[in-house]
Amino acid sequence: IRSKLPDVGTTIFTSMSRLAEEHGAINLAQGFPEFDCTPELQGLLEKYMRMGRNQYAPMAGVMVLREAIAEKNLAAGNRDYHPETEITITSGATEALYAAVSTIVRPGDEVILFEPAYDSYAPAIVTNGGVPVYITLPPQYEYVDWQQVEAAITSRTKAIMINTPHNPTGKVWDRADLEQLGTLAEKHNLLVISDEVYEHIIFDGRRHVSASAIASLAERTFVCGSFGKTFHITGWKQGYCLAPAELTAEFRKIHQFIVFSVFTPVQFALAEYLKEPAHYQALSAFYERKRDLFYNAIELIGFVMKPSEGSFFQNVCYENLSDEDDVVLAQRLTSESGVASIPVSAFYKQPTHYRTLRFCFAKHDETLLKAAERLGKVR
Ligand code: PMP
Ligand code: GLN
Repeated sequence: IRSKLPDVGTTIFTSMSRLAEEHGAINLAQGFPEFDCTPELQGLLEKYMRMGRNQYAPMAGVMVLREAIAEKNLAAGNRDYHPETEITITSGATEALYAAVSTIVRPGDEVILFEPAYDSYAPAIVTNGGVPVYITLPPQYEYVDWQQVEAAITSRTKAIMINTPHNPTGKVWDRADLEQLGTLAEKHNLLVISDEVYEHIIFDGRRHVSASAIASLAERTFVCGSFGKTFHITGWKQGYCLAPAELTAEFRKIHQFIVFSVFTPVQFALAEYLKEPAHYQALSAFYERKRDLFYNAIELIGFVMKPSEGSFFQNVCYENLSDEDDVVLAQRLTSESGVASIPVSAFYKQPTHYRTLRFCFAKHDETLLKAAERLGKVR
């Protein structure tokens, strides 16, 4: 058959994890926590399985979970989403993002992406016949040039996809950024897909500003979230999409034919677990300490870094230490030093000259310190 994604192979996360395993390397590549979710959450899952919540969930997700998400979102000062018509439980954020793209993109439509961009965005656009249009940012993502964004808008532009806190750079958008986006989206009548999976991992006193907190954006945005990062359950693949009723109605037409509905007992468990805000409010401090530990441990090696503002990733530029290509260095560090990372060029469409690697610090302190020690031999 003729491939719909001729330029796509196995994802970089899979290939680096495989290489890490092959060499017994510490895996700071693929982003997932080394720690388990709480026994309490495991107990809740077990409870609802034993209670027989084991058949199909409603297509849009179990109501108690949609209500819990609505409450939590409202308490954060964001738009008041109606659980009945505006919240859909998905198979991770990955499905939410795919279904949102599929809901709005027709052949020839352009979607603006900021690169480095998470790897699932462009393929979702392309398989739906759309065209990704890239705004290229430096790997430390210092700022967004809004004039450049506006200049990229054409009569075919359908939507803009954003991600804050950002994977892989750790950049966090402030309210002014989102307001700028809202003004632009309103002016050019664009839809927005906002990937907010790291909403609860944010550092140095910053606060997550959701697209759903900005009136001009909330009306035209699909907010995609995930419980995977928030509760250390990436393997449970539970996410959601928040969008105004008119958008959600179309979103659900797609969602129902991708998965129909997702794993039932865990939705009940999450609904109960979400009632206690401490379950997610402690996460930023937990990861901020790990960020600092890892940053301080690798600083002396001579990497050029900006402390991550959010997410569980730290980008490091190694141009002072080596002029190797990032893919080559990431492979060599895995096989020779025993530490796997992600070459940040994987998040760009065009090969880049940025000498940058992404490290995941969602690991035990000992793992991070051991990795730092091994990285010290990078020279
Ligand atoms: N968006 C970003 C930016 C991510 O980093 C990830 C996963 N690491 C996802 C979406 C996918 O989330 P999920 O695992 O819930 O599908
Ligand atoms: N989102 C994770 C990361 O950025 C990986 C998820 C995946 O393997 N698809 O590392």
